[in-house]
Amino acid sequence: MACVLCASSDNPTDEDVIPKWLLRAFDVQEGSTTISVAEESGDKHEIKRLKHFQLTLDGGLCKKCNNELLGGLEQVVQPILEPMAVRCEPTILDLPSQRLLAVWAVKTVYLLELASRQRYPGARPVEGYQPSNSEVGWLLAQLEQRPAKPIEPPPRSMVWLACWDCRTSSTVPRASMVHYAPSTAPLPTPGGREVVGQFTTLAVGFTAFQVFTVGYVEAEVQRATVWNPGPPDSIAHAIPLIWPHRLGVGDVAWPPPAFPNDSFDRLANWDRRLRRGGARTTN
Ligand SMILES: [Zn+2]
Repeated sequence: MACVLCASSDNPTDEDVIPKWLLRAFDVQEGSTTISVAEESGDKHEIKRLKHFQLTLDGGLCKKCNNELLGGLEQVVQPILEPMAVRCEPTILDLPSQRLLAVWAVKTVYLLELASRQRYPGARPVEGYQPSNSEVGWLLAQLEQRPAKPIEPPPRSMVWLACWDCRTSSTVPRASMVHYAPSTAPLPTPGGREVVGQFTTLAVGFTAFQVFTVGYVEAEVQRATVWNPGPPDSIAHAIPLIWPHRLGVGDVAWPPPAFPNDSFDRLANWDRRLRRGGARTTN
């Protein structure tokens, strides 16, 4: 199998999409991670949860991409992300840290979807978003320029970072430490053709990333509009944007007010806003 990043077929390796340091921190047995996969399907908004999801991409990455490029990224991300994700430690995220976490989130949702398709083809009512060639190429180029130059997510992408209370409670007796909820995000174009990107929620422990990405080359060619400016006022204070860095932005104090464990869907569908008009998440 060719490497999903660089297409080389040399030295294939297995990639743990959720890094080992996170699995260890949550005391999850390797290779038997419990994960919930929420899928919005048509107008029914059916949510299917797959448990005991295995999150390895078998033979999907060459040794260089896995160990050097992605391994190098994990090394710099872990000291920032682990205290937040595992212990909900209050953290001031400066702009470089926000950018780094944003790249990590984009990278992880790309690989999660590729691993899901490899391991569970057809198991979900609707598959998640497969990154376009331009997005994968962008990620590879960014990783290759580390650490000489700062890295950033692909053009047009947006990343938010909320806090989700991942602990068990009376209503959620058995919590998952990873919760992956992909949905599609269509962008209108002047020519009437939609360019379809993704809006995906990935909660890892207490950190809940929300990622928008799109095949930015096609989006430019079709002159697609911007997907969505941000979450509605009712929850905007709880979902700070960490990428892109707009004029005048600064540090982000994390955590914002946490989404309770039983309100993951409210986070994932932006308080139901993504189900009505405007930006739709349905296929
Ligand atoms: Zn590779």
